Amino acid sequence: MAKKAKKNDEPQETPPVRRSCGTMQVHERLLRTVPGYREARDASENHALRAAMFPMAGRSGCTRIPVVVHVVHKTAAQNISEAQVKSQIDVLNADFRKKNADVGTVPAAFAPLAADSRVEFELATTDPSGNPTTGITSTSTSVNAFSDDDAVKSSATGGANAWPADKYLNIWVCQLSGGLLGYAQFPGGSAATDGVVILHSAFGTTGTAAAPFNLGRTTTHEVGHWLNLRHIWGDDGTGCSGSDFVADTPNQAGPNVGVPAFPHVSCGNGPSGDMFMNYMDYVDDVAMVMFSAGQVTRMQAALDGLRSAIGTPTPCGGKSLPKDIIKEPPKELPKDLPKDLPKDLPKDLPKDPPKDWPKDPPKDWPKDPPKEWVKEIIKDLPKDLAKDPGFDPGKWLPGDLPPKGVFDPPKGFMEPPIDLPFGGGSPLQPGAVGGGAMPFVLATGAGAAGGGQPMAVLTNAYQQLLAHYARLHATGQLDAAGLAAWQELATTYQRLLSGGR
Ligand SMILES: [Zn+2]
Repeated sequence: MAKKAKKNDEPQETPPVRRSCGTMQVHERLLRTVPGYREARDASENHALRAAMFPMAGRSGCTRIPVVVHVVHKTAAQNISEAQVKSQIDVLNADFRKKNADVGTVPAAFAPLAADSRVEFELATTDPSGNPTTGITSTSTSVNAFSDDDAVKSSATGGANAWPADKYLNIWVCQLSGGLLGYAQFPGGSAATDGVVILHSAFGTTGTAAAPFNLGRTTTHEVGHWLNLRHIWGDDGTGCSGSDFVADTPNQAGPNVGVPAFPHVSCGNGPSGDMFMNYMDYVDDVAMVMFSAGQVTRMQAALDGLRSAIGTPTPCGGKSLPKDIIKEPPKELPKDLPKDLPKDLPKDLPKDPPKDWPKDPPKDWPKDPPKEWVKEIIKDLPKDLAKDPGFDPGKWLPGDLPPKGVFDPPKGFMEPPIDLPFGGGSPLQPGAVGGGAMPFVLATGAGAAGGGQPMAVLTNAYQQLLAHYARLHATGQLDAAGLAAWQELATTYQRLLSGGR
């Protein structure tokens, strides 16, 4: 019999009891050390902003992403089983397609925002050399525990080299030190370090997976970062000025941990409070169950931007959206800013309303107009599109159903709130957004100066208005003048976000 390794050589890491993610620390390090990373982040944020303004841009249907799991182990236990790996892939596919069994636990106030990310995952079947593979690599290491320094991503430092990041999502599974559950690299970094790293005992739902992180949600969270999502509280400590740059997630102070009781109010976001059941908070696995529609828009923007090379377009629910239904909105904004604010432009739109538009508003119109808009729009869409089981109007027409109390939606579909963005009689004060170049300070890691809740409200208002144009465009109601007005509004929005420059 072979002698067992000396016990005092074994890693002595205690399984974490509180979530800790190293993504922002890695982000700060890459900003300091990787040439071009800052510029790539800037470009990525601007692209995400554009996608939020033109919700139909980007990939339609679902995207299927090949995954390689690099198991880096010192002990036999760390050499996790294929079953444990597959259990994690199953969780990703459930969570990113809103098929997770616990999505029903989302409180009613947030349920309409829970969204299908339209991203699917599969273990790679072909390796970079073109040979068949299980999608799992196994590397023995002498490293007791890795940190967030990317050593696990290179064979030279005891880890495993990345597979080409434009073809595979790299997931490293290993022992991590210091209570770290995992970390991700945002889009825009080096291919050699691209991917996510997960503590083996927070990976999958079986084998070494240990409560309270034994439901695979650490990987869901980190892959959310990999697709450009920020922490939902805005990474500003416990203040109210940070933002995750997603309009439909309430402004939130610090991270929530454990299993919070609903509602948890912070930053004046009552009555519903924090969306702590979001995958991008810090709660236990059992408590995080949803991505929001705005987060999906942002992830899809990443797939249309810096991650455009990866993944295969695939139908959602067995059918893809007809290509000719979705017309491409203008990708480039006008270079010259409008001389006057477009106060009068929306009044002219649309020139030709739908022929079968109801003469009388629905009975419950004032209560919940967005749902009615969606119904009406679906009525105007080709029948086979609306029947598509993978077609989710809440996703395809983002911007609907904002959290109640955050923004009072316009009362008429044909009458956008044209005076809303520019103060005057509006409760939204222009001064609230001055100087806080929201998306453009992202790459520096700085919070949105002067932002906070007023900025979130204004951003939401703008996106609502821009979504109106998107809906008109989707149903073919936007003519050339309408497109021009849409562009102009978008330009004004961008100018506002950039601090009036
Ligand atoms: Zn994180």
